[in-house]
Amino acid sequence: MRGKMEPVLRVKDLKTEFFTYTGVVKAVRGIDFSVNPGEAVGIVGESGCGKTVTGLSIMRLITYPPGKIVSGEVSLDGTDLLKLSESEMRKIRGAKISMIFQDPMTSLNPALTIGFQLSEMLILHKNITKEETKKKIIELLSMVRIKSPENVFNQYPHQLSGGMRQRAMIALALSCEPKIVIADEPTTSVDVTIQAQILNLLQDLKSRVNSSIILITHNLAVVAGLCSRIIVMYAGLIVEEGNDRQVFDNPKHPYTWGLLRAVPRVDEQEKERLSTIKGLPPDLMSPPKGCPFAMRCSYAMKICFEERPPYFNSEEGHRTMCWLLDKRAQKVKRDE
Ligand code: SF4
Repeated sequence: MRGKMEPVLRVKDLKTEFFTYTGVVKAVRGIDFSVNPGEAVGIVGESGCGKTVTGLSIMRLITYPPGKIVSGEVSLDGTDLLKLSESEMRKIRGAKISMIFQDPMTSLNPALTIGFQLSEMLILHKNITKEETKKKIIELLSMVRIKSPENVFNQYPHQLSGGMRQRAMIALALSCEPKIVIADEPTTSVDVTIQAQILNLLQDLKSRVNSSIILITHNLAVVAGLCSRIIVMYAGLIVEEGNDRQVFDNPKHPYTWGLLRAVPRVDEQEKERLSTIKGLPPDLMSPPKGCPFAMRCSYAMKICFEERPPYFNSEEGHRTMCWLLDKRAQKVKRDE
């Protein structure tokens, strides 16, 4: 059991918007969360819910125009990253905080060998000799279970398979032993077997390196077993947050119920029973004043369309933005 510890990352009232010709898209609408040292936190939600924008905002990779972090605080070990200059931020990216993208080619340069790219990162952030750098890179490539790391050192990204490229990108992200690694849908572009291997690798790395992980995914099944805390996002807001037991065994938000229904169960043969949540998320150019899920929720009450619910705490560390948790609401049975 961990005692009370200081979070390594604290996100406070983060708001990120995109200023387009047709209007302002409020992609992240004021979210708060923190990540403890060595902890793996999952951010889950459908595409467009703000989870990737949250990751990019933490990394300060939102480009203006059209995107802009309009308010909030992202503090890493007590330093507010949103107050740093771009050159100060460059020293932190890769060294203290890094990101693994869905498509490895976003981080890997096709014209440079894997060895060269990893060396660049190490030389930029660590004060080590050329020999030490090569030794460290071979170690890193072996750690992400790349066979024949000496050969891969001299290869270009296109010479590797999709799964190997993903591993090389993970090695790049971990090269400077950052405090936090943000992995955005790291298994989406690879097939099911490789997906399992990559998740297994992240699990193994979590115990070997002391970095914290933020795993961003649309699939709740991906965070199971890896993340001890889960944040469910919808329409730019956190609608539920709890530990893995609270979210998987005792979810409180109707949207989380829907996400759980969409998770394939290994024990169920009837895969066709998998359901998706009907309807579409609200338009974030003019989000509804009430609960953002009201239009799709089969439990919606009058108040849901009129007022955004506050957070209700059902247990320590378990909060849910839903009127069903108000003492005055009628008890409902979860539709499984
Ligand atoms: Fe459904 Fe109302 Fe809860 Fe929103 S607040 S999820 S509409 S019951």
